[in-house]
Amino acid sequence: MRASVEQRLAAELDQFRRDGVYKRLNYLDSPQAPRAQMEGRGEIIILSSNNYLGLCTVPEVIKAGHEGLDRFGAGTASVRFICGTFTLHRELEAELARLVGTEASLTYVSCWTANEAVCPTLLGPEDVVISDQLNHASIIDSIRLAKQIVKCQSAVYQHSDMADLDEKLQAAKGARTRLVFTDGIFSMEGDIAKLADIVALARKYDAIVAVDDSHATGVLGQTGRGTPEYAGVLGEVDIITSTLGKALGGAAGGFVASSTSLCDYLIQRSRPQLFSNALPPTVGLSSLAAVRHLRAHPELVERLRANTRYFRDQLRARGFKPLEGDTPIIPVILGETAKAIQMSEMLLDEGVFVTGFGYPVVPKGEARVRCQISAAHSKEDLDQALRAFDKVGRRLKLV
Ligand code: PLP
Repeated sequence: MRASVEQRLAAELDQFRRDGVYKRLNYLDSPQAPRAQMEGRGEIIILSSNNYLGLCTVPEVIKAGHEGLDRFGAGTASVRFICGTFTLHRELEAELARLVGTEASLTYVSCWTANEAVCPTLLGPEDVVISDQLNHASIIDSIRLAKQIVKCQSAVYQHSDMADLDEKLQAAKGARTRLVFTDGIFSMEGDIAKLADIVALARKYDAIVAVDDSHATGVLGQTGRGTPEYAGVLGEVDIITSTLGKALGGAAGGFVASSTSLCDYLIQRSRPQLFSNALPPTVGLSSLAAVRHLRAHPELVERLRANTRYFRDQLRARGFKPLEGDTPIIPVILGETAKAIQMSEMLLDEGVFVTGFGYPVVPKGEARVRCQISAAHSKEDLDQALRAFDKVGRRLKLV
């Protein structure tokens, strides 16, 4: 590497350290589970994972991954339309569509690329995408790409503000297509999109709705079918994107679920589909097993809800003020970034892995530690974590 580039990067990295925003990677040396081995730390309780249903380590999910390797080899060695499509892709896509209540689905190597496929492929200069202010970075980048590549228009509505969305839809009346794009669960706040209202507004203005349900698939709704099930609009959302890297086995991969023709159009035209390898067989089959496991065990979703309720209530009882909500993402706002980083480090010293987030990931002055609960946590795991919160909270004079 040229010295000038090395020097520039080193100077910026130093600045990150001085600003207290440098991210240190913690290495796990065991599966992603409620308790894991962290290099240099020994056993820790994970309260910072998207493994919401604990499916990462379910024996059928692991076995299916092995079978994928045995039956199909390590990978597709190709993009889908050339020679990278296996029968397992069709089977998985049918199951995913069934799970989220659409006609069809199409997998990608991540939800990031699935989101990135949506706006630039489906929109043109006559169209407008209207996005919630707190949408995930991958939606924001999808919109940025679409504005650059196909010159679509865009608007942002204040977070979950339906009056503002109404105004933005009204202003977009002349467009060919109006696409409203929202997260299902917003990952930093842990709150849920007002999806029934969004769908109603979309009807009023003849718009279509896309929901990124990455944190909600397997989590929300009576049987874990996501935000549409929770909001009572299952089958009424035009486009759902989601990940296979969180509740559905936690490996990697994502998908777009929608009508058959929309998915077919993405096969024909979406660049991350046309120019990037397909989902590997290990991941495809373990994800398929995860979806089937969820269908066979809806009690996991109830257990996740019960664990979440318990942890939130217990935090409150100990004097913390977690953000209100119905989801297993429980942020505790602390203010300054340095405080959030300090608290997460002190919790790790007590054997509890909770990540601290500061600016620019969250607004200035709203730095936080974010707890994520799993159905796999036992009461003992949660109680041990709560004792650590107690101890650290008292030392930091938070409670
Ligand atoms: N969308 C949301 C809301 C997410 O939280 C994430 C991951 O953090 C993604 C998309 C990206 O998912 P993936 O890891 O499958 O690329």
